[in-house]
Amino acid sequence: MAIASINPATGQTIRTYPPHDDAEVERRVALAARRFPLWRKTPFAERAKVLLAAADRLEARKQALGRVMTIEMGKPIGAAVAEAEKCAWVCRFYAEHGEAFLAEETVATDASHSGVRYDPLGPVLAVMPWNFPFWQVFRFAAPALMAGNVGLLKHASNVPECALAIEEIFRDAGAPEGAFQTLLVGSDRVAALIADPRIAAVTLTGSEGAGVSVGRAAGAEIKKAVLELGGSDPFIVLPSADLPAAAATAVKARTINNGQSCIAAKRFIVHESIAGEFERLFVEKMRALKVGDPLDPSVEIGPLATPAIAAEVDDLVRRSVAAGARLALGGKRLDGPGSFYAPTVLSDVPDAAPAASEEIFGPVASLFRVRSLDEAIAVANRTRFGLGASAWTRDAAERDRLVREIEAGAVFINGMVKSDPRLPFGGVKRSGFGRELAMQGIREFVNVKAVWEA
Ligand code: NAP
Repeated sequence: MAIASINPATGQTIRTYPPHDDAEVERRVALAARRFPLWRKTPFAERAKVLLAAADRLEARKQALGRVMTIEMGKPIGAAVAEAEKCAWVCRFYAEHGEAFLAEETVATDASHSGVRYDPLGPVLAVMPWNFPFWQVFRFAAPALMAGNVGLLKHASNVPECALAIEEIFRDAGAPEGAFQTLLVGSDRVAALIADPRIAAVTLTGSEGAGVSVGRAAGAEIKKAVLELGGSDPFIVLPSADLPAAAATAVKARTINNGQSCIAAKRFIVHESIAGEFERLFVEKMRALKVGDPLDPSVEIGPLATPAIAAEVDDLVRRSVAAGARLALGGKRLDGPGSFYAPTVLSDVPDAAPAASEEIFGPVASLFRVRSLDEAIAVANRTRFGLGASAWTRDAAERDRLVREIEAGAVFINGMVKSDPRLPFGGVKRSGFGRELAMQGIREFVNVKAVWEA
């Protein structure tokens, strides 16, 4: 895949980048390897200063950075600017809490002194997706750098301008040479990078297929990996729920980022006693969404990031309808240049339809009717993914069962699933393993070292 910035709203190629050649990749990996022993000895307070300076730059340049994101991958401009702000938040969060999260702990044993230290591992390769082109990178980079690791970013091939802008932010923030670098390379170079003895660990955010490749390469080298993969998150609505609030949030939860979020709600599992009313409210709000130029602040849905994604979404919708799903809204690509797809609702989706099992990365909602809480939980768990889940109920006993029994890395009650620096983020099943954010995230790429002294 060419490394190119192509505006998905117009189809216009902004710029194509030649990938880094072998010599340039070698230069950058060597620089990272040389920087690591120095950076790990840099006091926490100094590392925190770099993160705080990065946060200041993100905020100062949020409008311009938002435009870079929107033009390159199509998210609405307001969301893009908010993404830059959220990156500033995660930098400040780890600048403030990183040292405490990694403080040496004392453990009482037979020793005069014993405990646990958290030492950095080395250069970490980050293979990142285009959908949150800043947030995904910063939520890796902030804890990794704070822990004393150095970062090498291989970003998705369709967001090189974002990748280079992030490198520039760290440079301008005073990160020393080699502490954070972008590699402009395709995915065909990832396995060789993982095999490089100077690379200590790898983190991937991306699709299941990429997860299999990266997990296999890391396994072959016995290297630490974190995999943040796809999701088919359930959104359960039970009879005691605040229905208008649930329907309004459901639309937001499905269409955030033009429907291209791993934790977007994708399967709406609604009790049959309220399913008709929920569908009516939901379809009405989906129909009212404003689709168009993502640089227009009033637009709620921009284009899908590439023509290939639009074609795949269309194929999954068509095959789901052919398998018996009822098309309640949309179901087609929109005319014109750009990769636009109509907000779509599939109802009464049968198990055999792709919409019941595949992750649809676009503004396409699938509605399922269930007769009981037991059935709702069973349908929610009937997926190979396990990233997030949202459930709506005002019944405390139902809430307890949902929180305990849903197989996912996060359960949100009466709210939509979102990432937050203070809470761990990650999946189970084929949504991956490992955690980002919070204390758990900064402890992924460290050597948990036991210390014992007679
Ligand atoms: P993708 O095609 O898997 O690409 C993600 C990254 O992996 C890109 O840098 C890509 O490079 C690279 N890549 C692709 N195939 C690879 C392979 N075989 N070996 C090594 N690297 C490979 O995913 P995407 O379409 O960009 O992103 C959407 C997916 O990411 C969705 O499934 C979404 O749910 C998931 N996601 C998960 C999370 C989470 O936190 N769990 C967050 C956001 C997104 P190239 O671009 O050069 O191909």
